[in-house]
This record gives sequence, structure tokens and C-alpha cells, in this order.
Amino acid sequence: MDDPWTLPLRLAVQRHDVREPPYRKRVLHQPYRLPAVLTGSAARECRQLIGGEWVEAPGGATFEDADPFTGAVVATVPAGTREDARRAIEAAAEAFPNWSQTAPAERQAIFLKAADVLDARRDDVASWLTRETGCTVGWAMFQLQFVPGLFRQAAALGYMPTGEILPSDSGAFAMGIRRPVGVVGAIAPWNAALILSARSIAAPIALGNTVVLKPSELSPYVGGLLWGEIFGDAGLPAGVLNIVTHAPGEAGPIGDELVESPHVRCINFTGSTQTGRRLAEAAGRNLKRLVLELGGHNPLIVLADADLDYAVDASAFGAFLHQGQICMSTRRIIVERSIADSFVERLTAKTRGLKVGDPREPDTIIGPLINESALEVVKGRVDDALSKGAKLLAGGKAVGPCFQPTLLTDVPEASELGRVETFGPVATIEIVDSAEEAIGRANATSYGLSSGIITSDPDRGLELAQQIDAGVVHVNDQTVGDEPQMPFGGVKESGWGRFGGSAAINEFTELRWVTVRRAPHPFPF
Ligand code: ADP
Repeated sequence: MDDPWTLPLRLAVQRHDVREPPYRKRVLHQPYRLPAVLTGSAARECRQLIGGEWVEAPGGATFEDADPFTGAVVATVPAGTREDARRAIEAAAEAFPNWSQTAPAERQAIFLKAADVLDARRDDVASWLTRETGCTVGWAMFQLQFVPGLFRQAAALGYMPTGEILPSDSGAFAMGIRRPVGVVGAIAPWNAALILSARSIAAPIALGNTVVLKPSELSPYVGGLLWGEIFGDAGLPAGVLNIVTHAPGEAGPIGDELVESPHVRCINFTGSTQTGRRLAEAAGRNLKRLVLELGGHNPLIVLADADLDYAVDASAFGAFLHQGQICMSTRRIIVERSIADSFVERLTAKTRGLKVGDPREPDTIIGPLINESALEVVKGRVDDALSKGAKLLAGGKAVGPCFQPTLLTDVPEASELGRVETFGPVATIEIVDSAEEAIGRANATSYGLSSGIITSDPDRGLELAQQIDAGVVHVNDQTVGDEPQMPFGGVKESGWGRFGGSAAINEFTELRWVTVRRAPHPFPF
């Protein structure tokens, strides 16, 4: 599937040789047009998935799941409880012995089928992504390109956990053997609903674990229950994947059950640093393994030798894709003084020209924020920065449920915008006198997720990349990008552990020491 949205993320390096300026933008294909089904208006009646059964919450309690742009109810969803989580964990624990013994080929066939089922439902899922999460066509396309690839790669994961034969001083035949951990709790967010929920279950299940998934209350269908349908069609046995939903603000009791249940051996969480910290504290008390992918305050350094057009396009893409609601979004653009004036002028003009509005329209770049409280937070942080002396270059205002793409400079460190991840289409510009100062600025944050350096000298870029304190560094690319096989994750307050590829094997298996003794021990008593 080639379209101009997914290609920038996959082929940025191939299509732009930075040593041969000038950079020329290429529109590779016609934009993908959303299907008629996108405008479907019937609200779906959802159920939770526990032990292979689609079930209601106790007493049939539900909540309404709304379209962030139109406000229309798109689904009614069970308002599940801690008791539902307990039953889901029990179902997963019961399914574990059989699932963990399945042949890798059996798991592989299911994941390959799931990828095909998702591909076949591409239009329907694109529609749901827009209706449930307000995502633009571009962000839907990126997710729909990523996840089938994730499943096809996960299909091979069952073959990858190899063991070791270890030299023993006691004459035993000693081995290190990888085993699935058991029941894995998966807590997923709404922003890249499809990718981040798929990622939370794919490696764990492919490696022989069973899972209880708790999607975000803001994307219970396309970031959760959808996988019950797709893996059901793909032939996943009952109880291997369980999905518990809950009403807004009611995540706590389900999270508590996942953290406290002795059956759950490991939890993966993607979301805010604030919630991640709370989970880590609880997991510490319960001595539970945790993989945490949290927020970022991601810097993009534009060096004096950068191709300006490329740097401007990269900055706008990194900052404004999906309205800046991506943990990897470019939040801080750090630019060398000698090119700052023309860079700022061009980026400001580009930012002002981005279309804001209905995400169903294929040329919309900035759709709605996920809900009103998100809009209030973004607006409040921008106003606060302005009141403390920041200068506004573009945007700065809410337009219905959307927030204009916004650029600020001279943002004081004392403002929240200067220090804390702000999930919206807002980027700041800092001007520095040298590459060394740029690195210092890039690292002056408590976060450490993604980062980028734009330069026409890739060798220097690579050297500087070693000095950035982040889990991900891209030379000659912006900060948003992921591929299923990459070791994705952060440092500092952006979390720990890695999703992706073989890194996931360490996270979702145990290394067990096994010995076989052929001659008896000479015991001393
Ligand atoms: P965001 O603000 O981007 O929604 P959150 O960290 O609040 O980020 O949400 C990410 C995920 O964490 C969602 O599935 C949400 O329901 C869940 N969550 C929120 N609070 C808790 C909690 N106390 N325990 C477990 N999960 C939680």
C-alpha cells in the first residue's frame, strides 16, 4: 500500500539524499479517499470479551462513545468493573497452559490470518479510526499500513526465543530456556489506537502468553474490541485474548486488579507519564514486571547546514501529524541562529496554511482533539506561555473541537508548555548558537523518547546523535516514526522496556535455568 502518508515515514531517507540538495518534495500517489462507510451513523452495541464470550457489564451498564468531531454517539460500550477484570484474568490463566504449549506454526497461522482479516476490513477500520478517535486520513493510513506488518512479523516471533547451553562447574548439563511469562495485562491508549493496542497484545500472544487487554475509554472499539473480532475470525482459541472495557474515569479499579492479581505476571502500559508513574508504584508494591512507554517532549535539531525546505516539511509533519497527539510528536524545534530567520518565516507560513477541520475530508491536516478537556489543557498551556512572555508565530486558538496548528517562540522554561508534554498541535522554536548548545537544549528535559537532527552532513549527525539522551534518535528525519521490528521505547520519564522485534522477547518471556544431571551428586551428608 503506497500512499503519500505512509511513505514519508518509511522512505524519508531513500527519497531524499541529504547530500544532494535541493530537496524536492514528491507527491507519490493520489490521496486515499475515505469510503462511503465512513459516514455511517448507526451506533454499534459493543460487548466485552471474556473467556471467548461476548458479555455485558454487570447489570448491563454501558457508556456512550462519541465522535470527537461531530459529537455523535458511535458506540455504546459496557461499563466493566473490577469483577469483569477478575473474570477475564481467570479466563486468561485457564487458557495459558494450552496456549503456551501450541506449536509456533499454529500461532503463526493465526497471526498471518489476522493480518489478512485486517487488510480485508481496511475501509471499515479507517472509518472507525476517524469516527472514534477523530484521526485524519493520513494517520489512519499510517496505522493501517503498520499493523498488518506488525502481525506478519509477530507470526515469526514464536520461532525466535532460542535458548543457551551453559557451561556448568558441577557437571550438570545446564540450559537457559525461554518460557512465556503467563498472563499479560495490556493497558493501551487512544491516540494511535490501532497500533498501540495491537502492539500491546501481538508479541505477548505470539510468544505463548495469554492477555487481558484494557483499552482506553476513548477508543474502546478500534483500540480494543476490534481485536476480539479479528482474532476470533483468525481462529484464536477462547480465553487467549480477553478485553475489558470501562466507563470514563473508571480505569483505576481494572488497573488495580491487573496489578494486584497473582495470575498476572507482567503488564505493558502505553500512556501518560503521570499514569505510568502511578502504575509503576503499584507494580513495585506487587513486584510485577512492567513495560512502560510514556510521554515525550521530543526535540528536533535543525543545524545550520540543513536543507531548509526539507527541515520545514519535516518539522511541520513531526509537530502536526494527528494534531500533535502522538507520544513521538516534535514538540521543540531547536534551530541554529544563522538560518533561524528564514526557517521560522517558512515554517510559520506553512503552519498557517494547514487545513483545520473535518477529518473526513482528505485534505484536512488538523482534525479535532480527542475531547473537550484535552482542548482546554492545550488552550490553557498556550495562554499560560503567552502570559509569561512567549511570542506567538502561528495559530493559538481553538476552532470548534480543533486547535489551530500553533508555533511559539521564546517560551519560558517556567511555563508548563516549556517543560511538560502537551498533547496537541503546538510546537516551540528555540534558537541556539551552536550544535553543542542544541544538544544541551535537547537534553534539558525530564523526558527521553524520540528526537531528530537535520543536517546535510550525516556523519556529523550520527556523531551528535550519540549525545542525545533519548530512546530513539533519527538523523535527517523528524521525531515520528515506528516500524514493528524496531526496539521502540524511551529513557528517563519516557519509560522503560522496549516494544518491537526481538526486544519484545526479553519483555514477554522468562529466562529459566534448567539442569540435567546424568551422574549422581556426591552429597556430603
Ligand atoms: P491519556 O491522558 O493520554 O489518555 P492516560 O495515561 O490517562 O493517557 O491513559 C492511557 C491508558 O491508561 C488508558 O487506557 C487509560 O484508561 C489508562 N488509565 C488511566 N488511569 C489508569 C489507572 N489508574 N490504572 C490503570 N490504567 C489507567
